[in-house]
Amino acid sequence: MKRIAILGSTGSIGTQALEVIRANPESFELEVITANSNADLLIAQALEFKPNAVVIARDEHYEYVRQALQHEDIKVYAGANALGSVVEMSTVDMVLTAMVGYAGLLPTIRAIKAGKQIALANKETLVVAGQLITELARQHAVNIYPVDSEHSAIFQCLAGEFHNPIEKIILTASGGPFRGRTAEELKHVTKAQALKHPNWEMGAKITIDSASLMNKGLEVIEAKWLFALRNEQIEVVVHPQSIVHSLVQFGDGSIKAQLGLPDMKLPIQYALGYPQRLKSDYPRFSFMDYPQLTFEQPDLKTFRNLQLAFDAMEKGGNMPCILNAANEVAVSAFLHDQVGFLQMSDILESCMAKVTYIANPSYDDYVNTDKEARRQAAALIGK
Ligand code: NAD
Ligand code: MG
Repeated sequence: MKRIAILGSTGSIGTQALEVIRANPESFELEVITANSNADLLIAQALEFKPNAVVIARDEHYEYVRQALQHEDIKVYAGANALGSVVEMSTVDMVLTAMVGYAGLLPTIRAIKAGKQIALANKETLVVAGQLITELARQHAVNIYPVDSEHSAIFQCLAGEFHNPIEKIILTASGGPFRGRTAEELKHVTKAQALKHPNWEMGAKITIDSASLMNKGLEVIEAKWLFALRNEQIEVVVHPQSIVHSLVQFGDGSIKAQLGLPDMKLPIQYALGYPQRLKSDYPRFSFMDYPQLTFEQPDLKTFRNLQLAFDAMEKGGNMPCILNAANEVAVSAFLHDQVGFLQMSDILESCMAKVTYIANPSYDDYVNTDKEARRQAAALIGK
């Protein structure tokens, strides 16, 4: 029986993780759930799963959640700091980081320091501070199990290959809703168009990141840290059907891939259940439904964010942290109709040029870099 804490239980990954836990009550027990502001869903989840503790990050909802759960044996906390405290509870074995953005960094650090195994969905944490996180995990003998479908695919390809070094990995990208468009055509695309992903239903931020290929850029950096790769070992190929979830090439030239229908419950379940493959009755993939699986080069000139992510990784230090902070501000501005689709790349590029570069950042440097980059990005937007 694994006892699980879910940071971000009300989101796309969080609710799908709860489906996995609901279907496997003999394998998992839910100890902690947390949400930012969706108090009603958090309460409904708490009443169904009876966790030990819940956290609502936004203080103003505390009284409402507390009253709704007052007849239950469930502790209710509020505030960002409580997210870090609940993951340290002795009854928690594994923490699923399914929050979105930089806010996931500190609770992930506290979970690792408390020796909790990590199922990592919150890729921004590894983009911002991959070196710090992976070093901490080593020190505390914590494993980080990938939830992102591409990284789960690579992890699954590596099973049984412990002594065989990776030659390179190939991350697949769907290409998003704007695959094949020119920069001219992208100038006036709307938020509604960007929010329509062809293959995956996800939270708003990652859906915009997928449309701009930023998501793939973040995943390149995520992969570097998860699998201890050199930059030149990471390739991206566009695969619009999202059936081949990613590939690993070994020293003999052989390539392994993991395939399946696009459904996040599969990688979530693999991370939570590892090393077991739990039985499921999700729909099965058939080649007859997909007679053609196609592959093409990503267009780095039109989708500049992916190139900027490669540049940030090459530069290292706090540059990926700058990239991430600028992107969080830019995506939020795009979702509020304050900037156009292509302006998001301008904001990233400008922040990467202007914010103070630090080659060997400490935790405090990351905190300050994040603040400075957000300030710069907001100034560019005129906010
Ligand atoms: P989402 O927006 O649907 O859900 C985010 C969750 O985090 C919600 O429960 C929300 O309440 C909580 N949250 C947001 N901001 C918070 C804050 N400041 N403090 C505390 N809690 C906060 O997002 P999602 O699509 O589930 O994505 C979550 C993470 O998983 C992201 O890092 C994303 O990149 C990654 N991911 C998602 C998918 C997917 O299919 N959705 C796939 C791979 C990776
Ligand atoms: Mg992914």
